[in-house]
Amino acid sequence: MKRRTFLKLSALTVGATALGLGVTGCSKETDVSIDGFPDMPETLGQAVEATVDLQSGEVKINSDILVKSSVCMGCYSSCGVRAKIDKKTGRIMKLTGNPYHPKCAEPALPYDTTIKESYQAFSLHGDKGLTNRATVCARGNSTFEQVYDPMRITTPLKRAGERGSGKWKPISWEQLIEETVEGGKIFTELGDDTVVEGFRKIYSQDELINPDSPEMGPKSNGLVWISGGSYGRINFAQRFVLNSFGSTNFYGHTGT
Ligand code: SF4
Repeated sequence: MKRRTFLKLSALTVGATALGLGVTGCSKETDVSIDGFPDMPETLGQAVEATVDLQSGEVKINSDILVKSSVCMGCYSSCGVRAKIDKKTGRIMKLTGNPYHPKCAEPALPYDTTIKESYQAFSLHGDKGLTNRATVCARGNSTFEQVYDPMRITTPLKRAGERGSGKWKPISWEQLIEETVEGGKIFTELGDDTVVEGFRKIYSQDELINPDSPEMGPKSNGLVWISGGSYGRINFAQRFVLNSFGSTNFYGHTGT
């Protein structure tokens, strides 16, 4: 194989597999021979979500795969992503960019572009180049691993040792709600008889939090929310803390 052909083949294969796409119908005229792809053994890669015939533009969709559009929360850029999902297992196989999203493709595809045309735009069909191939960064490609991270926290954790000891135990959602709302001596098992005020005790729009310092506002300001990254939770939290509970003490991720 000539060096030039090898480089072209490498670039095309990397681009195609990054998109979860297969490419068929390549002839010698294209100067890129990829005979045998995507019929390679499964051990060499994932099943492709669709193939595009570079000559005719024919698109074949793999009905075993579901593709869902979403937004990457790997950082604050909020790039568009397409999640490739195995229909049988429901597991995300990989993430790629969304060609309709301005942060993934330049130019982005107009919204009225059909899905079939979007697959063609991913490919070299029509000799348009790969400007619509739709990319996300390395972190964006790997963010779906958070979903399957064995360390992912999926249940409330309650402190099970001295503050700073790093000891926590899982509790039920019912216990979380009960103790957060009603408060009380919730750490007696640690030998701590401190009465912790629950939401019910500190909720009041009529009483001042400190009558000697009325500028500190109502008692409800005793609820202080300090955010982490947004991940879609911020809007719910703002609605509860600011609008429902009536505390002004809502701080964002960078609100130090
Ligand atoms: S794809 Fe990369 S740049 Fe875009 S939001 Fe995700 S992590 Fe940020």
